[in-house]
Amino acid sequence: MLKIENLHAEIDGKKILNGLTLEVAAGEIHAIMGPNGAGKSTLSYVLGGRPGYEVTAGSVEFMGQNLLELEPHERAAAGLFLGFQYPVEIPGVSNVQFLREALNAQRKARGEEPLSGGEFLKLAKAKAGLLKLDMDMLKRHVNVGFSGGEKKRAEMVQMGILDPAFAVLDETDSGLDIDALRIVGEGINTIMRDPAKGVLLITHYQRLLDVVRPDKVSILSQGRIVQTGGPDLALRLEEEGYDAVMADA
Ligand code: ADP
Ligand code: MG
Ligand code: MG
Repeated sequence: MLKIENLHAEIDGKKILNGLTLEVAAGEIHAIMGPNGAGKSTLSYVLGGRPGYEVTAGSVEFMGQNLLELEPHERAAAGLFLGFQYPVEIPGVSNVQFLREALNAQRKARGEEPLSGGEFLKLAKAKAGLLKLDMDMLKRHVNVGFSGGEKKRAEMVQMGILDPAFAVLDETDSGLDIDALRIVGEGINTIMRDPAKGVLLITHYQRLLDVVRPDKVSILSQGRIVQTGGPDLALRLEEEGYDAVMADA
């Protein structure tokens, strides 16, 4: 589904991705782990098409398309979802408005009819229930005054509503307590564990991988993938740390 080859990218003239190569097949959940500053968030921004991130070499193919040629909204309409390490607040716009606009914009881009207000609310209620997020939260302005855990759960409700083919989730577990971690992890499984879907799951911690079991685990260091293995690689990292595991590679 996603084929990244020799990707080089920089921001403000600073090179951050240095020849990153990675493939994710349909049906796979691929965890990305790596030290702080390795370029994990940068990878997710480059995939999403965030302005300011300049790709200087390499290619990204997403479901047969050249991803790097697409505008951010075209990437979303093509089925790519980005979950942010730090979800943004949007004062003045309610979650319900935001989510319905986002969904209907994507449906329009795909030539599908928009959902009516009633149909949308029914869908939103079902997904909020999955993430155990009160519907009242969805009536509030996007992320304004939300706790870290509420932001992450609201973001997973958004993912459930948009139902993407592929999700890049950046430290979705940060700021979650143990119960919220299980709810969010099970939400990811329910929404994205599918033979036709794929996930890049960026995380520092095994505890999320206990719930969302990855098929593959890769280590990103200094802007490239330096090691790929199975779920056991994450367990070794947890026990031994990045330096020890990378020294063995
Ligand atoms: P990670 O998510 O793996 O912790 P990031 O992708 O956030 O790493 O950051 C990778 C590197 O890029 C870090 O050294 C960070 O300081 C640097 N960086 C990120 N944004 C900018 C920027 N706007 N200008 C310069 N350097 C940046
Ligand atoms: Mg970090
Ligand atoms: Mg990061």
